[in-house]
Amino acid sequence: MTYNFDTTYTRLNNKLYQFLNLPQIEDPHILLLNSPLIGQLGINYSDDRSPQKLLGIDSSERPFAQAYAGHQFGYFTVLGDGRAMVLGEHITPDKERFDIQLKGSGTTKYSRGGDGKATVTSMIREYLYSQALKNLNIDSSQSLAVITTGQRVMRNTVQDGAVLIRVMKSHIRFGTFEYVSKFCSSQDLKHFADYVIERHYPELTDECDRYLSFFRAVLENTIRMVVQWYRVGFIHGVMNTDNMSITGETFDYGPCSFINYYDPSKTFSSIDTYGRYSFGNQRQILRWNLSVLGITLLPLINSDADKAAFLVKKELDTFDACFDSHFLKMMKCKLGITDPGPHDQIIASILQFLKINKSDYTNTFIEIMQPGTFEDAVYQTDEFKVLREEINRQGGDLKLMVENNPQHILRNHLVEQALQEYENTGSLDKVTELLKATASPYTKNKGFSRFQIPPSYDFDNNYRTHCNT
Ligand code: AMP
Ligand code: MG
Repeated sequence: MTYNFDTTYTRLNNKLYQFLNLPQIEDPHILLLNSPLIGQLGINYSDDRSPQKLLGIDSSERPFAQAYAGHQFGYFTVLGDGRAMVLGEHITPDKERFDIQLKGSGTTKYSRGGDGKATVTSMIREYLYSQALKNLNIDSSQSLAVITTGQRVMRNTVQDGAVLIRVMKSHIRFGTFEYVSKFCSSQDLKHFADYVIERHYPELTDECDRYLSFFRAVLENTIRMVVQWYRVGFIHGVMNTDNMSITGETFDYGPCSFINYYDPSKTFSSIDTYGRYSFGNQRQILRWNLSVLGITLLPLINSDADKAAFLVKKELDTFDACFDSHFLKMMKCKLGITDPGPHDQIIASILQFLKINKSDYTNTFIEIMQPGTFEDAVYQTDEFKVLREEINRQGGDLKLMVENNPQHILRNHLVEQALQEYENTGSLDKVTELLKATASPYTKNKGFSRFQIPPSYDFDNNYRTHCNT
């Protein structure tokens, strides 16, 4: 068998999922294959390149779609895996457990009028971004393969369809808790929370106030995740509660992008009219999302509703201090500052400099640690030179800076060019180049210097990403 499945999710109340049959894909072809990941997961897949095996043809278990709900742009909605199925939980040789999920595999009872499919370009896009984040050392879902289906998918235009094989510790979201708390019994909620704690936070299992500890652990893990997004300039784009993993893994790469010209109010998503999910707002939205999760846990935390609310609020009140502490630590690493002092002022100054000059986020930090890399006028100004001198006086630990400041990120315009080239000619050359460059984002490599050039300001200003999938 290809996968070593031992699926536990389907032992939960059957309100939480729907069993499915394997997708009927008549003409599957592997377009992208993550061979290192196959090795890491210990998947039994030799080089025969049979897509059917990766799609679960010899699976020992029944695939299923998960039910969940979520707050989308602040409004509660009932959702579920509308176009995804979990094939099973794969156990690696090191006894780690990962969901193997097909995305774009057809309709489920949660499809709500959608076709359950995915376009090949959006799945290549997800593959690129998930690998980029992973290689930047940020916890992320991973992509095992993109497999074309030979089917056509109707969007604005007719496009080729594909399935992405997505790998995550699990696909349990804040929104799964919302679903259980709203549509299942209090006994189910307890059972579900115990399941999640045992699966993802086993160290909390024996704690007497384990649900509150669980909330605290999710708060910390997701703060860690979002602070890492700030480190590399990542905008998730659609931080709905159904896109927030309970483990702090970044996932659901829809209208995401990296920031170029620094502006905290920056949003690229075509549907994010009011900037709810802008770069700078991600912190506040995480806090909001955590409050939604906290509400679902209230009945487990204390039978006295007021007391439960008091306890959850007390945890939420630690959010700002916890975020600040992680954020300052992260920024100190970017500036190579190793001493224990806070250094708030210099951090505020560099962010102010970036904002006033709308300078390139990634390249500015490179120019601080490796002066003379770029010829931009902004780096020749006295203001920048004074700032850099001050950073060097307070920090400047080169090793630390090199480990925390990427040399190149996935630039929006390059992603678009690569997808366009694939669409127009069927060539994956540019996609492959991007995958190579983002495989070692912290390594200075002359061959990759073209990936350091931001798009024109006009391109960036007009660029819109889409959930269009
Ligand atoms: P997303 O924007 O990817 O987080 O998706 C939001 C919700 O819409 C999820 O419940 C998805 O499963 C569902 N969905 C997205 N695209 C489709 C589609 N093509 N067909 C059916 N459901 C979909
Ligand atoms: Mg989603």
